[in-house]
Amino acid sequence: MNKQNGRTMKYFQLLLLFFLSIAMISCSKDNRKNHDEVISPDSIYQEIGNTQVIKEFNGITKISVYYPKIGDEVVDQKIMEYVNSIVTDFKNEVMLKQEQGEIAFDYTPRLAVQYETYASYPNIYSIKFRILEGMPWEEKKRDFVQTLCFQVEEGKNLRLEDIIATSFQQDFYDQVIHQLKTKEIYGKYLDEDMIQNLVMNAVQNGLQFTLTQDKITVYFPKYDLLSGLSLSPTTSIAITAISKNLCLDEQGKLLLGRKIDPDKPMIALTFDDGPHDIYTVRILDALKKYGGKATFFVLGQRVDNHSKVLNRMIKEGSEIGNHSYSHPLLTTSTVEKIKREIAKTQEAIIRCTGYTPKLVRPTYGAVNQTVRSAIHYPMIEWSVDTEDWKSRNVDMIVKEAMKGAKDGAIILMHDVYPTTATAAEKVIQKLTKEGYQLVTISELFEYRGTGLNAGKEYFSSKYSK
Ligand code: ZN
Repeated sequence: MNKQNGRTMKYFQLLLLFFLSIAMISCSKDNRKNHDEVISPDSIYQEIGNTQVIKEFNGITKISVYYPKIGDEVVDQKIMEYVNSIVTDFKNEVMLKQEQGEIAFDYTPRLAVQYETYASYPNIYSIKFRILEGMPWEEKKRDFVQTLCFQVEEGKNLRLEDIIATSFQQDFYDQVIHQLKTKEIYGKYLDEDMIQNLVMNAVQNGLQFTLTQDKITVYFPKYDLLSGLSLSPTTSIAITAISKNLCLDEQGKLLLGRKIDPDKPMIALTFDDGPHDIYTVRILDALKKYGGKATFFVLGQRVDNHSKVLNRMIKEGSEIGNHSYSHPLLTTSTVEKIKREIAKTQEAIIRCTGYTPKLVRPTYGAVNQTVRSAIHYPMIEWSVDTEDWKSRNVDMIVKEAMKGAKDGAIILMHDVYPTTATAAEKVIQKLTKEGYQLVTISELFEYRGTGLNAGKEYFSSKYSK
């Protein structure tokens, strides 16, 4: 369709909508209190699927629900179940009111649902439902957005957390908070705490979102202000800004299906002094094969030349930590020098991946009062030293790693030696077979519930100082 035709079409649609509206207003008998929302299929934005309709006008309730049929059996079943649950909940609520004796309603309780579909990836469909409920016993009409997002191949209903790398999720929430704060309309009425609460509550209840070609849009529940005004905050994050942290390949296939079982033992493998084009890649391949993750404490000076491997770490759910810029002994450095070493590395990693590291591993594990006062991040030490840099012997490295393996352990290796890569391949296989989950440092401390604090040293999930 060319632009001219598009415009004519749009004009025609508007005209049609106008006449339809007039027709509907004149037909509608109880158009009181502005509770009637004119919803016609014309207003449905649809990139995929056919419109299905549920209409019921039975004197007790008025229901007019539009929903899509995608053409995939499993997904369509799930959409129908979802839509039916909205209708059932609505009817039950009305019935309960009637049982409570409130029979004489001002007007008929009504439910209207409209939707939009987005087929952003070949495999992923996003559906946004706008749900309007006019309940005669309530002053205001309910008006809210709920979303579904399906990966069609697996018939899986995706949460936002399924498509954003674990290590990036907090950053994503922070970006959402920042966007809301800087939007004039929200910034004017909502203070920082309100926005923070709004977002964190929504995160706990499961964020409502749509994934479209160019952005992820997040929808928040209606927020009533004291002035009687209400806001329905929404905000969008551009895909280009977060594509490195999306767990989707170009076909919309999930790269991550991360499930950590807190009841099973877990170990954090850590690799220092990299990244390396060959050895780090071999370790990442092994992690991928066994579904494990690790933490890579990288040197700032190596970041720019290893952009590809760093981005792969993040994308595959591993974690990047800061191991200084040029590997000086920090205990003999000045506070200014230490701060510069850490800051330069943070900047390089952010520039290269968009990810902000949360952890520092002090060089040589050496920490004194000066280092403590200069580093405002959790400092990650280790409980198992494989001495891989010293022995350069595959069997010895594997032996040391396995000797210290237990729940909560942090194992130290260096991803810059061929012997370490070979040993790591074996260790990853052995630990996985023994039932260990290979997790990142952040995951280890999250699942073992101890948390991580700036300026403290951590040797395992059970020992810190
Ligand atoms: Zn080092």
